Amino acid sequence: MTHEVVLIPGDGIGPEITRAAQRVVAAAGVDISWHEVQAGAGVIDQYGAPLPDHVIDAIRTYGVALKGPITTPVGSGFRSVNVALRHAFNLYACVRPCASMPGDGSRYDNVDLVIIRENSEDLYAGIEFDADSVGAGAIADTVKKQTGKELGPQTAISIKPISRAASERIVRYAFEYARANGRKKVTAVHKANIMKCTDGLYLHVARDVAAEYPDIAFEDKIVDAACMGLVMHPEDFDVLVLPNLYGDIVSDLSAGLIGGLGMAPGANIGDGCAIFEATHGSAPDIAGQDVANPTAEILSACMLLDHLGETTAAARIRAAVRVTLSSGASVTQDVRRALTGSYDGAVGTTQFTDEVIDALSRMV
Ligand code: NAD
Repeated sequence: MTHEVVLIPGDGIGPEITRAAQRVVAAAGVDISWHEVQAGAGVIDQYGAPLPDHVIDAIRTYGVALKGPITTPVGSGFRSVNVALRHAFNLYACVRPCASMPGDGSRYDNVDLVIIRENSEDLYAGIEFDADSVGAGAIADTVKKQTGKELGPQTAISIKPISRAASERIVRYAFEYARANGRKKVTAVHKANIMKCTDGLYLHVARDVAAEYPDIAFEDKIVDAACMGLVMHPEDFDVLVLPNLYGDIVSDLSAGLIGGLGMAPGANIGDGCAIFEATHGSAPDIAGQDVANPTAEILSACMLLDHLGETTAAARIRAAVRVTLSSGASVTQDVRRALTGSYDGAVGTTQFTDEVIDALSRMV
């Protein structure tokens, strides 16, 4: 059967790692018809926007995409294409498994956790007011009237919406994920001791939903303590469910437990649509040099294959990646440095991908 999948190569290292993932998927014998479209700063001149309508249309048509990272200007410029895609398709759940692999160069060999990040609200809602805008002034006045607290002049303001509906949806997703994948525990991460209204609501809802799943253990942790716990004893964690911003930060922290951003895959799931992409960004510092680690994107493609029902191919690719990494002989510079303290002896993106394909060909 031929699967129809949208491919967004992205920018920075995106084209290199998505190409690697496509090659590995093809070598596993899965027949995919890729519909390649471009998004990001590079298409603004041609289409007038970083996320052109035909990209949205393609994803709407096929319902599934493999995506490379896309650069977002910092502090100013256009809004994140990644965030816009999540909003356009209501991709409310970001799923990021972090599992140790032998030879991943990490300090740990016992990490097996899954981050479930709420994708639709929180400080990522993009409701912000410049320090000198009328909006910021009006909000400051309202705050003063209602709370007596003075925000002071020249204060920029960002609004953190946390709704009962979105909190319930993501926590329920985490419990359903735990059930479907044989997981034992869900940890809700929050800062409800300080943000009593927003995170307080999230925690309250999480406790209510947890009561409906007596077969899955539940605990909650304050985000700072959760970070320390992850570094000290990652084996204590199973499924973590977090509001958007904490989910973003804790995802990268957890990637650091399994060898770094080059190892951490991900998926953005909505109702009837799913976009698969590595946790990391466009890594402009190493773009175009054939040195990026494609593992995270290859493992994201495995999540895509699972989603398409191609679970055998996904398992074979994961096994081939494990074999390649565990040999220690052919690893990209990020892993090489983690293993030896130096880049010496590292292989490039293309050669690592060749090794994975070779390992795949040796498997029954
Ligand atoms: P980054 O993840 O791109 O890079 C952080 C560090 O990790 C860099 O040193 C980079 O070289 C390294 N790294 C990342 N991926 C790697 C890989 N596959 N192999 C080896 N090393 C790797 O984070 P950043 O520098 O903060 O962000 C760069 C840009 O990416 C920004 O514009 C940001 O907004 C964007 N971004 C996009 C996405 C996305 O498209 N989903 C996600 C995060 C960041």
